[in-house]
Amino acid sequence: MFFHPMDFLIFIALGLALWAQTKVKGNFQKWSRVRASSGLSGAQVARQILDQEGLSHVRVEYSKGGDLSDHYDPTAKVIRLSEPVYRGNSLSSLAVAAHEVGHAIQDEHRYSMLVLRHRLFPLANIGSQLAPMLFLGGFLLGITNLIGVGIALFSAAVLFQVVTLPVEFDASKRAKDKLLELGMIKNSEEKGVSKVLNAAALTYVASTMMAVLQLIKFIMIFRNRR
Ligand SMILES: [Zn+2]
Repeated sequence: MFFHPMDFLIFIALGLALWAQTKVKGNFQKWSRVRASSGLSGAQVARQILDQEGLSHVRVEYSKGGDLSDHYDPTAKVIRLSEPVYRGNSLSSLAVAAHEVGHAIQDEHRYSMLVLRHRLFPLANIGSQLAPMLFLGGFLLGITNLIGVGIALFSAAVLFQVVTLPVEFDASKRAKDKLLELGMIKNSEEKGVSKVLNAAALTYVASTMMAVLQLIKFIMIFRNRR
């Protein structure tokens, strides 16, 4: 229970996750200093892509949620953009705004991975909260079945993270395609947009890796006990 061989790999994944987080901030700041030649703000870009996609019912709102809090709310059909993204006209602002629009387009087209992600959410949410308690209880009380239930619930949480990957990659791809197609960025500006979006994707990859490794570790412990 104390040191497991898998902990070494989990530690590496944790390092990668922390590194990816600093890279997201670093890339966002770096490309925040590069103004897009179109001169459009993140809010304008979001509005124009939405309208062009026939999504005029989706609103674009300014959110006080601080840096990197940008998101699409599928229930309210609202894209909420943080100050630097909403008002900014840098490559970073455009990349993030277009990425969130990508999620709204996925929602409209009922993109299969997004639908699956929404279905998994309630179970994954319960799983991530209950699994640690079930593991701990199972070990302390010596009830192996409790660990088994914990593993099943934790698997739902891990699957949710795995399904998030194609959803995020697809939103970024849609974002880049739309920005280029509508002439909001030039071909030469694609590199900056990609750097911002790829860094964000890396954080999802790293945290998913960590979750998968943890799941493997728990399954290994579970099998040893039986
Ligand atoms: Zn996203």
